[in-house]
Amino acid sequence: MSIVMKNIDTLAAVPPGPLAGPAMRDIPLIHDATLEIRYGKIGWFGPAADAPSRLEDEQTLDLRGATVIPGLIDAHTHVPFVGNRADEFARRIAGESYLSIMQAGGGIRVTTQAVREASEDQLVESNFHVLARMATRGVTTIECKSGYGLAPEHELKQLRAIAEMNKELPIELVPTYLGAHAVPAEYEGRPDEYIDRISAPELLRQIADEGLARFCDVFCDAGAFTVEQARRVLTRAAEVGLRPKLHADELEQIGASRLAGELHAVSADHLEKIDDAGIAALRDAGTIGVLLPGTSFFLGIEHCDARRLIDAGLPVALATDYNPGSCMIESLPLVMNIACCQMHMLPTEVLAATTANAAAAIGEQHRIGAIQRGYDADVVVLAAPTLNEWFYTPGRQLVAAIAKRGELIWIPPSATEQAPPET
Ligand SMILES: [Zn+2]
Repeated sequence: MSIVMKNIDTLAAVPPGPLAGPAMRDIPLIHDATLEIRYGKIGWFGPAADAPSRLEDEQTLDLRGATVIPGLIDAHTHVPFVGNRADEFARRIAGESYLSIMQAGGGIRVTTQAVREASEDQLVESNFHVLARMATRGVTTIECKSGYGLAPEHELKQLRAIAEMNKELPIELVPTYLGAHAVPAEYEGRPDEYIDRISAPELLRQIADEGLARFCDVFCDAGAFTVEQARRVLTRAAEVGLRPKLHADELEQIGASRLAGELHAVSADHLEKIDDAGIAALRDAGTIGVLLPGTSFFLGIEHCDARRLIDAGLPVALATDYNPGSCMIESLPLVMNIACCQMHMLPTEVLAATTANAAAAIGEQHRIGAIQRGYDADVVVLAAPTLNEWFYTPGRQLVAAIAKRGELIWIPPSATEQAPPET
C-alpha cells in the first residue's frame, strides 16, 4: 500500500543522524516536493519535477501549504509516574528551595510513594493519555524511564507498564531502566547498599532477558550518585546488554560527562554545567548531548549553552524531560520553541535535534529520525508552508497529520485551528 504526498510546500529532508556542527543547520529543504510512502517505509522523495511517472496513479494527498518533517522523537522523559506536586510548584515559585521542600517531606519521595502504591494497571491508566497527548504534537517515538519505584519490584512494575503502553499505543516507546535515580528514604545515608541492590546482576539480567529496557541510566550529580557509583551500575548493566545513558552535569560539575565518554554512553543528558573536557569526551566517544531546556524554563534557571556545544562539533538532541518535579511540559514543540528563542538554536538545528540526533540518542538512527529511502515512514504534516512559519507561532498547534510506519495515526478534527481532542 502506497501513499504519495504531493505539492508539499516544504519537505525538510533531514538526513540520518548523528548530525554535528554545520550539518545540523544545513538541513535540505525541498520546495514543491513529492514524498512516497511504500509499505510503511519512505520511498521516493524529491522535487515534484523529478518524480518518477509511476507515482502519478497512486493514492495522493495534496499538501499545498504544508511542511513535512520526520516524526519527532522525545529522547528523555520520566513517564510513567503518578501523584501530583502542584502545591510544591507554587511553593518553589514563591521562593522556597527544592532542598527545604524535600526536607519537609516533598520532592521525589512524594512521587516514589505514589508509584509504590499504584498497581501496574493504574500506572498504565494514568500515563496512557499523557503519552497520547504528547503524540498529538507530532511525536512518534518516546523514550520512557523507570526511576520512581526505587525498589526492584516497583522499578520492574514501571518498566512493565511501559511495555504494556507500547503495545496499546500507535507510537513507539523506548524503555530505560533508571533504578539509580535517587536514594529512597529507607536507604538514607547508605547509597552504596542501595546501588548494590538495584544493580544486582540477577535483576539486571531479568530486565535484559525480558526486554524490559534497552538502556540503563544513572543520575550522576552532586546530591545524587557519584561518578564511582555510576560507573559501577553502568558497567554491570553493559555486561547484560543494557547500553549506558547518564543524567550529567545538571547541578554541578563532578565529571559525569567525562564518565559518559569513558563508557561510550549513548547519550549524556542535561549538561548545564559541562566543561570543555566533558564536551571533548562526549564528542570523541560519539555520545549524543541531550539538552532539556523545558526543565531550566520550568525551574527558572540558566539554560545549557547550546551554541557552545554545537560550535564544538557535538551532536545535540533536545527532549522534554517530562517529569513531576522539574518539568511538566508535555509538548516537545514548546520545548523546541524555547530552544529557538532562548538558546539561540536555529529552526533547522532544533529540527535536527529532535529527529536525526534524537534518534541517535536512543540508538535508532539507522531506522528513524530522517527522510531517507527505506527508513520507517514516520512523518508529520504541519499546516505551515515553511519551517520558520511553524517556529514563529510558539504554543500554536499546527500539526495537521501524523503517520507512524506509514499508517495515519492522527488527523485533527478540523485541520489545525482546533486543539487536539483530550484523548
Ligand atoms: Zn531526567
